[in-house]
Order: sequence, then structure tokens, then C-alpha cells
Amino acid sequence: MNHKCGICGFSAEKNAELFLYKMLLQLQHRGQLSSGITTFHPNDPMRLRTHKDLGLVNTVFRAEHNGKFLSIMKNHSSGKGIGHVRYATSGADDKTYAQPFERPHGRKNKWFSFCFNGNIANYSDLKTELENDNYHLVRDTDTEIIMHLLSKSIKESGSLFEAFNGATERLDGAFNIAFLNAEGSLAATRDPFGFRPLCYAFNGENIAFASESIALSSIGFSDILDLKPGEMILSNNGHTEVESYTKSPKSAFCFFEWVYFAHPASVIEGVLVYKARHGLGIELASLETQKIDKDCIVVPVPDSSRPVGEGFAEKLDLPCIEGLIRNRYLGRTFIESNDRAQKVKDKFTVVRQVIEGKKIFLVDDSIVRGTTMKNLIVYIKKVGKPKEIHVRVSCPPIMWPCFYGIDMSSRSELIAAKYGIEDNAVENIRIEIGADSLIYQTQKGLIRGIGMPKDSLCLACLNGEYPTKMGEKLKLFCGSGRACTDK
Ligand code: SF4
Repeated sequence: MNHKCGICGFSAEKNAELFLYKMLLQLQHRGQLSSGITTFHPNDPMRLRTHKDLGLVNTVFRAEHNGKFLSIMKNHSSGKGIGHVRYATSGADDKTYAQPFERPHGRKNKWFSFCFNGNIANYSDLKTELENDNYHLVRDTDTEIIMHLLSKSIKESGSLFEAFNGATERLDGAFNIAFLNAEGSLAATRDPFGFRPLCYAFNGENIAFASESIALSSIGFSDILDLKPGEMILSNNGHTEVESYTKSPKSAFCFFEWVYFAHPASVIEGVLVYKARHGLGIELASLETQKIDKDCIVVPVPDSSRPVGEGFAEKLDLPCIEGLIRNRYLGRTFIESNDRAQKVKDKFTVVRQVIEGKKIFLVDDSIVRGTTMKNLIVYIKKVGKPKEIHVRVSCPPIMWPCFYGIDMSSRSELIAAKYGIEDNAVENIRIEIGADSLIYQTQKGLIRGIGMPKDSLCLACLNGEYPTKMGEKLKLFCGSGRACTDK
């Protein structure tokens, strides 16, 4: 499962380029396809300068070559800028899709650059509308739609708050936006439901915002605040405002941020991601039915499941062992490969010496298609020779697709949706993945483990209750099925 993007922005007297680079490194887990920055240069004819390319942050900024890295930094030496890391859930993976997107214009207030994190669920409708209005769209991506809506709205509005209100009122979905214009106005907006996280902080005159708090704390910011759903932070001429730019009908924070996507050291809506995952492990352990004996060990699937494994092991008084080691240095060819069996072998090393003859509780954060887990079990059994493998999953069965930026858009690819809510659904999944037993987290356990009120979360991929109109509409076209109810 993959995520779509991370954004950040920075304003200070100088060195924005360096801090943006550092923040993007901390957001790398949110997208590895491309990255880039736009910086503000008030004394230069090219008031906005964008550097972006395909590749990891260090590749794009040529970190391996000191001279080239310093040259990029010098060329973008500035006090203000925005940055982006991308994972594609829509649009091709070529350089022209890399963000930020710059929209040049002869007027400074209409010349802007922006980047975004999320997914527009009503993309097709808006695309058709714009085309009917004689717009020529050159890329197959929602980012271009936002660009046109923004430029149109800026032309018609008296302020950037008004412009964002106008540009986003037709958008349905998840859309956190970082924005910079040629007047030097720097802004970030969170969509009305707050699907994706977005936070900000001040350090004297310096301001920073980012998809995750880890990007801010890593460059020395403390007292980090969440931008509320429907809020905007706008900074210009030494003045900063944080205000609502649009109404928020309700919060729908994506629960998957805590379960899987976000960095464990990030804090989202006041909840440390590590703590949430640890709590999910404790909840999962409370469902345990296996007899615990001296051969039992807990093996988390690295990296995101490690805190879950620790919580699970602590509750059952079992050792939590790194029987699987993740290879951190896999290149792009690996990421694009469709051979899941080979991918699993390349991605993980099984440490036979610590799991041979053991009864393993293999703890993972989620099962989406089931193919990775199936291949992983075959691989562990063959190489590690454990006595038994009992799979424990910290997220309940994923029954419905996500239309808000998570890479699981078809119901037919979800293993839990295939078996629905039949009494023997979990048993059928267990057989298909080849585990000795299988226990999923319950929805109640998930909510308790994360520690957020249920009605503040988006749980649509679990229960089919989409927070937006377009989500409910798209659900009708994603295949028949029944929502999974809590047990
Ligand atoms: S549908 Fe699932 S993955 Fe998508 S935003 Fe909602 S909770 Fe997150």
C-alpha cells in the first residue's frame, strides 16, 4: 500500500532551501517517486525558482556530489519556499508530474507555485467541466485541475483566503496544499475533512509547516500545532494569520496515518504515532487465543509494525525478536517490480537462527491484497523453518477502496472484500495466505488503540461509510459488497 505525497513550507530570513531539503528527507516515507522545491527570489527577475525531478530526495538534490548539491542550494538560496515528495496514485511517473507545479504569469499575485497531498475524488467531473469551458489539460492528474481552479479563483478574489475558498468549494476529497506566489505570500491549507495531517510551528520570526510533525521537530521547531480541517496559514510581509478559509462539516482523519503511513515519531492530532501503534499491539494481544508456551516469540514485520509487535509482546510477556530484517537500500527497479514473491525475498532477510523451531506471532499492520503476506509466509517457512506462523494484524479487514489518496482503489483487489462478512471469511483468508492462525484487530480495538474519538476518524475502507458525497457515489461503482461490521 502506498501513500500520495508529503508537503512542507518554510519562511525565515534565509536558508529556506536547506531547511526544505531537510524537511523533505524526513517526509521521504510519504513518497519516493519524485521531489522538489520552489523558492522565492524578490530581487531576481525569476521571482520563483523550482527545482524538481524524479527520484529520492537525496538523488534529486544531488547529495552524493557535494559540488552539485551546493550549486542547487546556492541557486535556491532564499528565505521562503515550499517542498514536495510524491508517490503517484494518479498520473504518470514522469518528470512533468513532479511537484511543485509552477504557474507563471505576468502579474506577481497571479504567478504562483503549489504542491498538494491527497486525491480529488470528483476529478473526472471537474476535468470534464474544465474541458467544456475550453481549458486544455495536458496531464492526467488532479494537480492540474487544482492549478486551474486556483488561478481562476485568484483572478476573481480579493484575498488568498477568498481565493482558496473559491478554488476548493467544488473539490471533493483530500487536498492539503502548500502555496507560494511571486509576491512572497506563503500559505498552506488543510481540506475541510482533514483526511491527511498538516501541522505548523513558529520559532521567533521563522515559520514552518509540513505534512508531519517529524519534519518540523527535526529542524528545531517545538510547540507544533495541527492546522484544523478547513484552516489556512498565510504568511506575508512579516505577518502571519491562521484562519478558516472554508467550513469543515466534520473531521475525518485517516486512521491509516497512525496504523501505517506516518513516521512513528510524528504526533498527529495530539497522538504520538508510536504510542498508537504500541496501543494497537496491546489491543491485539487481548484477542489472543493461542496457548502461550516457551517456544512462542513475536516477530514484527518491519518497519511500521515494530511498535505493534512490542505492545503485543509486552502484554503477553513474550520476547519480541527481529526475525525479519528489512533491506533499506532497494532501488527504483525494485519499487516498480510486479514480482511480489521476488520482491518479498529482496525486501526481507529471514534470520533462521532466531526463528527455527519457534511458534511465531507474525505481527503486521494490515493485509490489503494478501499477496505479500502469502509470499512472506512461504519465504519464512522455507528459510526460517519455524514450527508455526500465527498472523496478527493491527488493522481490521480492509473491505472498501480508498478514494482519498491511498493506493487501493479497486474492491476486487482486496482480499477481505473477496470473502465479505461470511462466518468463515477470516478462516478462508487464513487458508489463502497459508498461516496457522489469523486474528485481525476489531474496529473497537482500533479506535481504542489509536485513542481518537470514532466520529473524528475516516474508517471508510473498513465500514464503507465515506465522509464525502463523491466517496458515497464512487462506492456504488466499485463492486457489490457488504460493509464489515464490528465483532
Ligand atoms: S478510506 Fe481508509 S485509507 Fe482512505 S482516507 Fe479513509 S481511512 Fe484512510
